[in-house]
Amino acid sequence: MIDSDSWKAKVVEESQTFCPACDSTNVTMGACAIGSMTVHQEYTCEDCQYEFTALFALTGCYAGHPEN
Ligand SMILES: [Zn+2]
Repeated sequence: MIDSDSWKAKVVEESQTFCPACDSTNVTMGACAIGSMTVHQEYTCEDCQYEFTALFALTGCYAGHPEN
């Protein structure tokens, strides 16, 4: 199993979330818990059913809303 720091570095490098247990990119987003400083995003791996949570920290703000 990859550790948290290595997982983060690889996600940043490849701009893609992957399973820390089996390296699969076939992961599904689940519930999202939003705080004032952090966001906890749940994921489930579709290949090995491993459940993990990505932790996001506040990095700044911008005008308007994301376009999507
Ligand atoms: Zn997996």
